[in-house]
Amino acid sequence: ADPINDVEQEVQEWARQKKSEIDDLRKQEKFRRDFLSNISHEFKTPLFAIQGYIDAIVDDDFEDTDMARQFLDKASKNVDRLSYLIKDLDEISKLETGEIPINYTKFKINDLIREVFESLEMKAAEHHIKLVFKQKYDEPILVNADREKIRQVLVNLIDNSFKYGKEEGSTSVSLFELHDQVLVEVTDDGIGIEEKYLPRLFERFFRTDTSRSRQIGGSGLGLAIVKHIVEAHQETINVRSTEGLGSTFGFTLQKAKQGIPFPTIPVLNS
Ligand code: ADP
Repeated sequence: ADPINDVEQEVQEWARQKKSEIDDLRKQEKFRRDFLSNISHEFKTPLFAIQGYIDAIVDDDFEDTDMARQFLDKASKNVDRLSYLIKDLDEISKLETGEIPINYTKFKINDLIREVFESLEMKAAEHHIKLVFKQKYDEPILVNADREKIRQVLVNLIDNSFKYGKEEGSTSVSLFELHDQVLVEVTDDGIGIEEKYLPRLFERFFRTDTSRSRQIGGSGLGLAIVKHIVEAHQETINVRSTEGLGSTFGFTLQKAKQGIPFPTIPVLNS
């Protein structure tokens, strides 16, 4: 045995560990910095717009009331955007700290999809998009999950299909029964997503160049929230897409175990 060699090895091992700890801290720090700079960027855009519209009305002694109304309307839309952003940020931080627990109940996923379709009917019509429900066997499927949170997952995914869908297109929600799970897929025939973006899609604030350039409103938090909710259920979410043809987002849920009925024991009259 060579004691000097042993000590050297120990020191090297210690240095390796410290280096990896420092790397982790650097990564966390970069993550925090990016997050803050993303937030301020996302807030600046609508704030500047609001200020611009209001200044224009105040400074120019507006005579044209129609134009003033249009400007106020635009300012108000940007206020809405800020409120959505705050709501999404609040939601995501609560999900991350585990402040919002998952409330499991048993419910029929078919009923929830029907309810979500009804609540989005008007919006779908505005975008000229048809909502279609697809299931091979027409039998309701009982799942065990947080009904309100899964509603939000569906709403976010369907809402995206409106934003990135094509006019006169259609969005379908399909159910596939697996062994003890059900796969829920939301498919649109919209603009699709370039393959290089797919791995980053669920990151907070990530938006593809296409959506930025098309000036589609959105916080870039919708899919991050969706992923959080699905993973808090210990389930998985995936996306596949072909640019120009459309996208499919699919997530799994646990089927609820049907209670086994007690066998009826025939009573023998003696
Ligand atoms: P937001 O829609 O607010 O930008 P999301 O987190 O919901 O944020 O989506 C992130 C990005 O993923 C979007 O900006 C868009 O580029 C892309 N995306 C999401 N859903 C779709 C879809 N159905 N079709 C095409 N692109 C999509």
